[in-house]
Amino acid sequence: MNIKNYNHYAGIIHVHSTYSDGSRTIEEIAEIANELDDICYVLITDHNTMQGKTDGLEGWYNNILIGIGCELNDPEDLNHYLVFDVDADVCKVGDSYKYVEEVHNSGGFGIIAHPDENRSHIAKYRPYPWKIWGSELFDGIEIWNHMSEWMEGLTHFNKFRRVLHPRSSIIMPKKETLEKWDRISIKRKVVGVGGADAHGYIYKILGLIPLRVFRYKILFKTIRTHILTRDTLSGGNDYTNDLQIIYAAIKNANCFVSHHYLGDASNFRFEADSGTDAVIMGDCIKLTDKMELNVYNPQPAQTYLIHNGNYTETRSGQEITFTINSAGVYRVESHVDNRPWILSNHIRVTET
Ligand SMILES: [Zn+2]
Ligand SMILES: [Zn+2]
Repeated sequence: MNIKNYNHYAGIIHVHSTYSDGSRTIEEIAEIANELDDICYVLITDHNTMQGKTDGLEGWYNNILIGIGCELNDPEDLNHYLVFDVDADVCKVGDSYKYVEEVHNSGGFGIIAHPDENRSHIAKYRPYPWKIWGSELFDGIEIWNHMSEWMEGLTHFNKFRRVLHPRSSIIMPKKETLEKWDRISIKRKVVGVGGADAHGYIYKILGLIPLRVFRYKILFKTIRTHILTRDTLSGGNDYTNDLQIIYAAIKNANCFVSHHYLGDASNFRFEADSGTDAVIMGDCIKLTDKMELNVYNPQPAQTYLIHNGNYTETRSGQEITFTINSAGVYRVESHVDNRPWILSNHIRVTET
């Protein structure tokens, strides 16, 4: 059984503008995104503000749909939380347990940003990890964050090389984050997304020559989140409905993450086929004795099958089938050049 009729839309989550500590306006960010012809949405998350939405900046800018949420933090500047589809008054510094609950109750959704950040090389750049794993009301985890990985690997010795090579220095998501994501996903659905955390920072070489590091365009070509939906975006007539389509796909985990530097992941598929039913990542299916998990890689890749957090099997190629005979949550990772390229969300296989 083949699944057809899903639209694929690639986009960028977690972008800062001049409404907080980014260096470009939302209009400029939309213009930069329009220079790329293979993404169609950008989700802005300024720190503790949705003023851009209040100012009417959501909507289509030619081929790019701009959605505006925000990135919340608590008074100690910890527990960064990306929230979408919420009212503007949610966006202020507050108690982290409370904002997670408030977003949940409001019908919006929230994603833990850079959960296991640990920066120990340069004292002035502190980490901003997630501390309240006891809260069970979050909807998702940023399983890969460009800026966070770049900063974590930064030392006084390699900083110039990393400034010059912002994409090739992004290697892999954090193991402990993937482990937590898999563990929690056994109990309930938690979407995994990729974050750019783009700011377009201006860095002064030797304190003098200004250089825009983390240029927005570079980051838009690195960690992407691709959604799959049966709905078709209007492309202009109805941006609020288009945003609801994107938010629904993300919330439902009908999405995957790619490192675009290693190749275009657009046609990637991960589907479960039971012989009588077929679903995509994010969905749920009943186990049968003919259960297959099918993967399509847009270029030959090494694909790992992960069952309840355990790496159980690996195959290489483009069209790959894993036969399975037990229930649980399954996801796949496709690697090229021994580096993670695509990470799917989970498919939940239930007992008959
Ligand atoms: Zn943050
Ligand atoms: Zn951020």
